[in-house]
Amino acid sequence: MPNYYLPIFSDPTEADSDGDGILDPDEYKNLTTDSRYDNIDPLKADTIETLYPELTRNSKTNVDTNPIYLDINNNTIILKVKYKLNDKAYESSNIMKPDSTEYYTNEEIIMKSISDKWNTEIQGNIFDFYPGMSIKIEINLIEASFNEKYIKFKINDKNDNATNTKFGIDWTTKNIKYIELSTRDDAGKYLAEVNRFASPAHELGHALGLSDLYGYSDKSKWRLQPVVYDIIKTTKNEIWYKDDGKNPDGDLMCSFGLVRPNDIEMILQAYCDNQRQYFRPEFDKKNEVSKAIKENNNNIYLDKYNKEFVIYDSESRTTTSIGDAYAYQELLKEDYGINVTITELEEVYGKSNIISE
Ligand SMILES: [Zn+2]
Repeated sequence: MPNYYLPIFSDPTEADSDGDGILDPDEYKNLTTDSRYDNIDPLKADTIETLYPELTRNSKTNVDTNPIYLDINNNTIILKVKYKLNDKAYESSNIMKPDSTEYYTNEEIIMKSISDKWNTEIQGNIFDFYPGMSIKIEINLIEASFNEKYIKFKINDKNDNATNTKFGIDWTTKNIKYIELSTRDDAGKYLAEVNRFASPAHELGHALGLSDLYGYSDKSKWRLQPVVYDIIKTTKNEIWYKDDGKNPDGDLMCSFGLVRPNDIEMILQAYCDNQRQYFRPEFDKKNEVSKAIKENNNNIYLDKYNKEFVIYDSESRTTTSIGDAYAYQELLKEDYGINVTITELEEVYGKSNIISE
């Protein structure tokens, strides 16, 4: 047999011997601050299935009798959701189907919202999962049969804009969740279509153990909202949101955005610890920021109630004011060498949430 010399065109630094998407050189040293990736192996495929053994092997918190079971195979996570609907779900939504004279039923809106947002593929990065990893999320909605635990979707056609998710005192992977979806605002007007198509997917995020990314604007314990430093590279920040209601960019748990890698990592964390995950610290509660959030933000938050940027001290659980949008702009320039305009701050954090004039 003749000897063939195989021309080596491939760059060894670009090789991926075990075919897991992670380049070989990146498998010798953990590129992240997450100890889960300390022992990744260049000769053995590292996947969600191997990296999260606590969810895939005799797991106590992730079992198929739960209302939502995470069925993890290699780098695919199938969200198996058992659900029930109330009678209103089968009625017309008053939203017209495209190129049709028919209306969607409320049920069809729920299914479309959840399928469109949650059937997705996310890429690992230095904050979430691992650079090179590609993770597929699939949603599987199954009508619950008798005796099974479920997620209840309750369409509310009253004039009280009461969209929310309830699950008893504490969220656990096991308990039944009740998702109430309003079709109308307080004045009885139908809510905007963009809102109604996003809400079921957003509320399912709560059922999966995620809290809201936005801070509340009333005097609630949860008024702090995480901030991103570099507005220009928002897409590369770990937590990504835009507060403009009509902007689909951003995170689903902010408003109308997408399921992003950090959300998925927080869900896996919620299922490991059997505990809800938070995007920010919450006063008067033991709720700290999710350990899935690793980008250092020096504890700077937007206090939506007082409309000022603050530094949060986790030991004393108190905040110190930085000031208004101009003061924050100055801090970004001085401490981080980042130049942003007031208009950019308004766009990302919401004009009505900050004092910028
Ligand atoms: Zn919410």
